[in-house]
Formats: sequence, C-alpha cells, structure tokens
Amino acid sequence: MRQVNHWIDGKEAAGTSGRTADVYNPATGEVQAKVALASKADMDAAIARAAEAQVKWGATNPQRRARVMMKMVDLINRDMDKMAEVLSSEHGKTFPDAKGDIQRGLEVIEFSVGAPHQLKGEFIDAAGPGIDMYSMRQPLGVVAAITPFNFPAMIPLWKLGPALASGNAVILKPSERDPTVPNMLAALFQEAGLPDGVLQVVHGDKEAVDAILDSEVIQAVGFVGSTPIAQYIYERAAATGKRAQCFGGAKNHMIIMPDADLDQAADALVGAGFGAAGERCMAISVAVPVGEKTADALIEKLVPRIEKLKVGPWTAGNDVDYGPVVTKAARENILRLVETGVEQGAELVVDGRDFALQGYEDGFFVGPHLFDRVTPDMDIYKTEIFGPVLSTVRAASYEDALKLAMDNEYGNGTAIFTRDGDTARDFASRVNVGMIGVNVPIPVPLAYFTFGGWKKSGFGDLNQHGPDAFRFYTRTKTVTSRWPSGIKEGAAFNFKAMD
Ligand code: NAD
Repeated sequence: MRQVNHWIDGKEAAGTSGRTADVYNPATGEVQAKVALASKADMDAAIARAAEAQVKWGATNPQRRARVMMKMVDLINRDMDKMAEVLSSEHGKTFPDAKGDIQRGLEVIEFSVGAPHQLKGEFIDAAGPGIDMYSMRQPLGVVAAITPFNFPAMIPLWKLGPALASGNAVILKPSERDPTVPNMLAALFQEAGLPDGVLQVVHGDKEAVDAILDSEVIQAVGFVGSTPIAQYIYERAAATGKRAQCFGGAKNHMIIMPDADLDQAADALVGAGFGAAGERCMAISVAVPVGEKTADALIEKLVPRIEKLKVGPWTAGNDVDYGPVVTKAARENILRLVETGVEQGAELVVDGRDFALQGYEDGFFVGPHLFDRVTPDMDIYKTEIFGPVLSTVRAASYEDALKLAMDNEYGNGTAIFTRDGDTARDFASRVNVGMIGVNVPIPVPLAYFTFGGWKKSGFGDLNQHGPDAFRFYTRTKTVTSRWPSGIKEGAAFNFKAMD
C-alpha cells in the first residue's frame, strides 16, 4: 500500500513513530494509502532543522525570495491537473472544484511575488536634531501552519506564500485525511529554488500538533479548522507566547429580500449550499427569506433545482455537481443531524436520506437535503453540519433577518440578495460578520484583500493573505539614530519633546 511520508529537509522521511492513519478514497470507501503520523521526537527534529535552515533564508534578500514564488507560479500551473486529480481522489470534490482549490491558493503565491513591497518599513528623517527614525519588518523565525481537510491545496498555500516570502521557515502540518497534495507542493517549492529544510511537511494528529504548540522554537501558529480545535490551539499557543491566528467553523446566512431576483438567489443558494458537498467554511447553510411570500416562492424555486443535483465520483467529470463527503464518520454525523431536524419539527422538503449510487455503495455519498421552517433552537440550526443540507429560517422583516445573523455564534461569511442599495449598504455596515456578499453568495476576498471571520469563526489578530499576512509573519523593529554631529548635550535625565 502507498505510504505518504513526511517531507523533511527536501526529501521524504517515514519518521520514527511507527504510527499511521488511513487515507480513504471517499468515492469508493476504500483505503488508498497510509499516512505517517509524527511523534513528538519527529516533530522536534523537524523544527530544529527548520531553525537551522531559516538563518540563511531569512538573510536572503526579499527579491530573491520573491523569485522562488515567481517560479512556483509556473510550476503550480504546470502540475495543476496532476495535483487536482490527487486532490479529488483523496478529498472527493469534483475535478473542476479541485482545480479551483489549487487556483485560489496559487493567487496568494502570485500576491507573494510582491513580498518586497509588503516588507518595506517606514522612515522619517529629521525627527529631531540629527535624528532619523525607521522601522523594518523582520521574519519571526520558524512558524507553523496547521490546516484542514477541506482545502488541502488552497489553505496551505495561503500560509506558505506570505510566511516563506517573509523569510520564515515553515512547519506545515496538513490534514491527515488528504495529505498527498501538500507533499507535492513541497516538492514544487524545492524545484522552484526553496532551500531544503525551510519548508518541512510533518503529518500527524494531536501528538504532532501539541509538539508544535509546546515548542519554544516555533514563533507563530496559523490554524484553520473547526472551532473547538481553533480555540484550543489559540489558548495553548498563547501559553508559550506565540502569535496565533486560528480560524474556525461557520454557519453562513444568506438573506433574501422580497425585491431580490429569486432565480438568481435560488441558483446562488444551490451552488453555495451544495458545492463541494457543503464542505466549505464559506458555504451557505442557512437561507433567510424575508416575508412569507418570498419564502414560499423561494422554496418553490429551490426544490426542482436541488432535486436535479447530480451527485457522484469525481471521475464522472462534468456530469457531477458534487461528490462524497470526506469520511464515513462525517456521513454518519450529517445523517444523524438530519434526523434531529425531522424530530425537532423542521419540514424536510427535499429528503436525501435514501440516496444511493449504483457501483459506489460503500462511498461516503450524501444526498441533498432542504429543510424549511427551521427555528434557531434546533440542532440543525445551531450546529455546523458541513454537508449538503440547507436550512431555511423564515424571517418576518429585514431587522429580524439581520438579528438572526448577528445573534449566531459564528461570523465567517454572510450574503444579502436584494436590488435595494440602501438595504445592502445597511446590512454590510451593521452585520457583525467578517466577509459580506451583496448578491454574491460566497464572498471569498481575493488574494490582495484579507480573509477572516469574526466571533467564533476566528481567534487572534490579523487575517489570512493580503497585507495582514505579511504583518502576521513579520515583527516590527524601530530604530532611532543620531550621529555625533547631532549630539549637542550631555547626559539627559528627563523625557522631553523632540525639538
Ligand atoms: P479539524 O479541526 O478537525 O482539523 C483541522 C486540523 O487540526 C487538522 O490538521 C487536524 O489534524 C488537527 N486536529 C484535529 N483534531 C485535533 C486535536 N484534537 N488536537 C490538535 N489538533 C487537531 O477540521 P477539519 O475537519 O479538517 O476541517 C473542517 C473545519 O474547518 C470546519 O469546521 C470548517 O468550517 C473549518 N474551516 C474554516 C475555515 C476558515 O477560514 N474559517 C476554512 C476552512 C475550513
């Protein structure tokens, strides 16, 4: 059986733990590989080697580091299809969606080509008699990225571009469920000219993560995953004085105003709710039509669209709208939550519980579900289902819809569909959520803006990619200098204004 090893010092390494985890093909339910799980000793050794390699890399001029990113852009494009196939086979998402996963990561590598500009400090001359003051942004040293299964290329690349271009060494601990693409990316970075040891991919579970969190060498942790783990990592990382930005789960609401184009809104909901089997942190999982008439009309438009969805393996090509979920446990959890929805009184308008696919009976497929008349006290509303289940909560007014989104504990993304500029503007300004779409269902900001949620969707400071990422992965040093010709006085004992 194929084994996915760590990528240490520019080559594969099995590690010493002897422990592995199964990597499935979610479409067939078969184990297709084993991934090595690092011990604390494996992790500590990888970190120590990264610290050595970082010294030279951190001192390499930013333009040279940017050239590695430039080369990486070409290499990712060259190997896009090859990586997308592997990604689909381990994650289950469709081939075009797998390419999108890589593409949205690639865009952050493109942005990181501009690292020298992002890393410039500030300068002012003559801040006082003969006094100049300037600041510089310096790399932190060794940083860690701990990433989720649902974007095995995009999220590692969001971390790697800015962190490496800023002069850090990175320990990447990808999800153990789809670990191969991160290794392929590491090999491409090597081909692009990144010195060995500067990027170490260490696979593992809690033992590996805890070794990162307790390390005195690691200076910062960038995490993306579920909220309980995000909070755990944030707190444990802070205990050893690390910087931490930890992005968590979501329950994204889309508000549909009575004046919205309902065909557009229904198309958007189907794509954003069921794309990637609902396994996106920016998926829309709650539709909030305003007014009974809007709700009735929306449900009428949604039902045939959802019933028509084609669910199947990525190998079926363009004939498939979404694929299986990632594991058997994920499938069981989704179906269990659907049962609670029925028991607690929600109306199951499209029922995907009996979905089965001939020839793929052991795959982790889940049929599409649409609930109507969901209320905020139900488990299907309170829980991030992370599956192909769309809940409709009917709101009596715009203010009620806004309040619903604001009272939700998550604050990753939200959208409003309306033709009214005043309402859209009011919504964008007042809602306590990090990323807002106006007639855009999945408002993932482009690489040169930043990505991050509020409330329990994000712990820590600064967002991912965009200028924030370069701030997160560097620290500021400020120099005040005066040369002997500017020194007019002897010892000074008091603070005073510069003049
Ligand atoms: P997860 O929290 O299970 O795992 C994320 C990472 O944490 C993995 O690398 C995993 O190995 C590690 N991990 C898991 N359990 C751990 C433990 N007990 N101790 C230490 N480390 C542990 O998340 P997932 O299932 O891989 O990803 C899906 C989740 O990620 C969803 O909640 C989704 O909303 C969220 N997500 C959020 C964003 C965002 O930007 N906010 C983006 C993508 C995904």
